[in-house]
Amino acid sequence: MEYQAPQDLLANKTILVTGAGSGIGKEIALTYAKHGARVILLGRTVAKLEAVYDEIEALGAPQPAIIPMDLKGATEQHYQDMAETIAGQFGHLDGLVHNAGALGVLGPFHQIGQDMWDEVMQVNVKSQFLMTKHLLPVLKEATAASIIFTSSSVGRQGRAYWGVYAISKFATEGMMQTLASELDGSHVRANCINPGATHTPMRSKAYPAEDADLLKRPADIMPTYLYLMGADSLAVNGQSLNAQ
Ligand code: NDP
Repeated sequence: MEYQAPQDLLANKTILVTGAGSGIGKEIALTYAKHGARVILLGRTVAKLEAVYDEIEALGAPQPAIIPMDLKGATEQHYQDMAETIAGQFGHLDGLVHNAGALGVLGPFHQIGQDMWDEVMQVNVKSQFLMTKHLLPVLKEATAASIIFTSSSVGRQGRAYWGVYAISKFATEGMMQTLASELDGSHVRANCINPGATHTPMRSKAYPAEDADLLKRPADIMPTYLYLMGADSLAVNGQSLNAQ
């Protein structure tokens, strides 16, 4: 996407990014901070979140916050507590980026184990549902709020051997559409981004033999993330955009 974001696009905005410690999520956090946002960094590996925190502080951007959370084990109570903490500390939330994701194990359909099914569906679908459910009241407190879900091309067209990951991304598209339809006409919007092939640890796991130098970097796909989070997309709701 060709989009040139003004430097102060996200000034005075508070935005939560999941999976903010590495890959695309780390780049989203840094990019939003560079455009003026206070970023809440959520992830399971505290050392990675702290490294991103330090990078943001070094930029002189608004002071970020860290929420350590393993989406695999989190219960509804954790999301409720988290929403109360955010409401108490910041009053409202302007943006939520569901970026964290689990690839699981790729392979034939008949080999998908129940445990792998549960793990990938928990991290990629149920956690997004519970987090959104409990953060909606805090998002509604903002003047305008944007929820971004992360899709994939295998979440729009099924592909052999992508099993539960692909199925979970179809569910993500469905969750976004259902929510967006309900939010239509309100000041909260929900959309999906399909990042497209991007050089990250997950991509290397899925395609170990490819030449990663030929791929887009997370920084290359940030215009779409900026567009959907900022005021230029206020009228966009229920869409699934390609970042490449
Ligand atoms: P990475 O593996 O680089 O990053 C995934 C992030 O999710 C990491 O920060 C990871 O934390 C976090 N995460 C994973 N499991 C959990 C968990 N149980 N609890 C909390 N955090 C967790 O992947 P990408 O950056 O490539 O992926 C980001 C999103 O983009 C995903 O939703 C992915 O499905 C999607 N996507 C990526 C594409 C690509 O080509 N890269 C293409 C299409 C979609 P930690 O580092 O601590 O493990």
